[in-house]
Amino acid sequence: MSDVTARAAAGFSSAFGAEPAGLWAAPGRVNLIGEHTDYNDGFVLPFALPHRIVVAAASLPTPRWRVWSEQSDETIEFDAAQADEPGKIDGWAGYVAGVVWALRAKGHDVPGASLAVASDVPAGAGLSSSAALESAVLTALADLGDLAVPVEERPALAQRAENDYVGMPCGIMDQSASIRAEAGHALFLDCRTLAIEQIPFDVASFGLAVLVVDTRAPHRHAGGEYASRRRACEEAAALLGVPALRDVADLDAALAALPDDVMRRRVRHVVTENQRVLETVALLRAGEVREIGPLLTASHASMRDDFEITVPEVDLAVSTALAAGAYGARMTGGGFGGCVLALVDADSIEPVAAAVAAAYAGAGFTAPVWFAARPSAGAGRIE
Ligand code: ADP
Ligand code: MG
Repeated sequence: MSDVTARAAAGFSSAFGAEPAGLWAAPGRVNLIGEHTDYNDGFVLPFALPHRIVVAAASLPTPRWRVWSEQSDETIEFDAAQADEPGKIDGWAGYVAGVVWALRAKGHDVPGASLAVASDVPAGAGLSSSAALESAVLTALADLGDLAVPVEERPALAQRAENDYVGMPCGIMDQSASIRAEAGHALFLDCRTLAIEQIPFDVASFGLAVLVVDTRAPHRHAGGEYASRRRACEEAAALLGVPALRDVADLDAALAALPDDVMRRRVRHVVTENQRVLETVALLRAGEVREIGPLLTASHASMRDDFEITVPEVDLAVSTALAAGAYGARMTGGGFGGCVLALVDADSIEPVAAAVAAAYAGAGFTAPVWFAARPSAGAGRIE
């Protein structure tokens, strides 16, 4: 039993004075490439992390829910009326109530349950602990209640919990990765059609590793900047007469038709980033894993120079990793802080991480946290 599984089981016993009926887990994720492409109807390529949220759970005879999390060591209770009113349960338990709400809104007879949550997905670091929480709870409730919820419908349900109950306007990438990822693969997701394809990405078998550096840079203005990037993309698509920037076929012609330099750079990022995702997928399908490095690095340059969503901490982690021998490196996630990933030889992961830590010390930045991100499996029952 892993530590996090043992903590969920022990937390269940002490919070509820009984044994759980089972344990379910769902992972956090990183996005290998494809940033700010989701809301432009484009392509993303996330993979699931070994880090997971584990939920120990058992049914209750009546429709009410009791949730404990080790994060705050508190138990929150809610009933069906509270679950049926979006926003009624706030704070972290809102993600759980949101899943109950989304299932009930679809007509499912969600069983009452006691749930204990333990996690090794850092919260708020851009590794999608929120989607891991939703996905683990959804998987547990669906199994406990024997609910007929096809796996292909689950990401949208978890997303609705976050969008409409919690009130966070996230895309569907995080929940798709947490629920549908397969070990040794990245998940190629077309954000327009929601078609998915498992792309081989078994880095270890190529003698490679993905280093993830959590820069711990404070998120600066992330909400407002996100909204302004989204708006610029929508305005540009309208000016170009296309439904979304995904539909720009001739980049040079589009750039010539746009009125100002900032908008041109925003469009260039989205259009070239979609192309880089497609090229990355093609290389991985051909087993050319090292060769994706330059695409990762080009993605970073595009986010830094054209989309302007990086900060000095992430730029320093990327440039240091590259100087220390990484095949490619980029910021991952929405930007203005968060994590950097680097594709490195398996035996150089520690020296590259050490180089980044030394550069941070030299620059006076908060010490970063790092780990190896082995592409892992999506949500499921573990015991
Ligand atoms: P991210 O998804 O990038 O980690 P979010 O802000 O989307 O960041 O989600 C973080 C929120 O998810 C936390 O503030 C908390 O409400 C909830 N959460 C994450 N992990 C846990 C946990 N172990 N227990 C309870 N709530 C959690
Ligand atoms: Mg989140």
